[in-house]
Amino acid sequence: WQQLSDYDPLVFDLIEQELERQETGLELIASENFASPRVVAAAGSILTNKYAEGLPGKRYYGGCSKVDGIEQIAIDRAKEIFGAKFANVQPHSGAQANAAVYLALLSPGDRVLGMDLSHGGHLTHGSKVNFSGINYESHFYGVSPESELLDYDEVERIATEVKPKMIIAGASAYPREIDFARFRQIADKVGAYLFVDMAHIAGLVAAGEHQNPVPFAHVVSTTTHKTLRGPRGGLLLWNDESLKINKAVFPGTQGGPLEHVIAAKAVAFKEALEPSFKDYQQSVKANAKALAEGLMETGLRIVSNGTENHLVLLDLSSTEVSGKDLEEALGKSHITVNKNTVPRETRSPFVTSGIRLGTAALTTRGMGPEEMKQIAVWIRRAFDHVGQDDELAKIHKEVEALTARFPLYPGWSQVK
Ligand code: PLP
Repeated sequence: WQQLSDYDPLVFDLIEQELERQETGLELIASENFASPRVVAAAGSILTNKYAEGLPGKRYYGGCSKVDGIEQIAIDRAKEIFGAKFANVQPHSGAQANAAVYLALLSPGDRVLGMDLSHGGHLTHGSKVNFSGINYESHFYGVSPESELLDYDEVERIATEVKPKMIIAGASAYPREIDFARFRQIADKVGAYLFVDMAHIAGLVAAGEHQNPVPFAHVVSTTTHKTLRGPRGGLLLWNDESLKINKAVFPGTQGGPLEHVIAAKAVAFKEALEPSFKDYQQSVKANAKALAEGLMETGLRIVSNGTENHLVLLDLSSTEVSGKDLEEALGKSHITVNKNTVPRETRSPFVTSGIRLGTAALTTRGMGPEEMKQIAVWIRRAFDHVGQDDELAKIHKEVEALTARFPLYPGWSQVK
């Protein structure tokens, strides 16, 4: 670090400023978390130097004995956590993992059925601006307009009509449990593959706090950096040896694996196997409940009137304040969130009527239900004072006092 600060103070100072931003703000982006210093150390290691195309023991480069050991540990731990027969730890990201699944299971032009982006699905589940909607014929299901929950009978009706080759289950903004067993029934009925993208809930699944999709899906993908609390990256799991998933990752969609990130995944998987990881995931859920209740107590509306995972969707559709307005106002108070569409959205995707909130990151800092209730009150105050910077600055001062009580990376700046 000393060398970096001396050689390139421009980059170093921005890293330091980002550390300060993370430490002094309240991180409520549902797809983010704070990896442990151990995970960060592995990701920042000299393993970044190594080329290792192929798989452990079957590489296209020499000098791979050490990275073989590391990658095998990551594979074995991933299989153990999720109860899968096969794992590939090489996807550079969630989107890359998903690209490999499409390549392995489908031919260009095949029909797929995924969750509508505006109802909580992900771009890679068939959006027209993504490879998945450009190269494949995409169809969508959504949530029920009344209950705002997945309506499995309706999914079945659409699947029967569309006859997709692959059904995609999983979401980026769905606050409720997903019934993967029911999805498999539907897939079997129409002769489709079931592909589950559990990116958001993987940590909950790892801890037994959400139904595990691995026994039900043909392939499961995830990111490793959300609730799973590892480095930024992807992971694929499957049970059927005949599925050519490894080939679809390399040489299908990627080149050399990022062995430094794979080492960090291995460390994160060790953490996920600790008993304390279950306590953590239980707290993530309890905090999401407390946040949802706190928001409802202030008179704000929550999509589906609650949450069963790490995520809460604030519904502003009946108010003058848009998702964009509230995201900006909260940003001025150093509360970081993202605007999000809600079911029956009427505003544009750049404006939206929702705010997505997640508790994984603040739970890692050690915050609990009491802090969540306080944060709900601040969100309501920011909502009531959109455009009134004096009041938003007052909230910021109070936010600073709270974050000071929950140090994020104690001592980290001493590396300076
Ligand atoms: N799948 C889901 C459900 C996601 O929410 C995301 C990211 O938010 C991804 C895939 C893509 O992950 P990445 O950003 O690592 O490509």
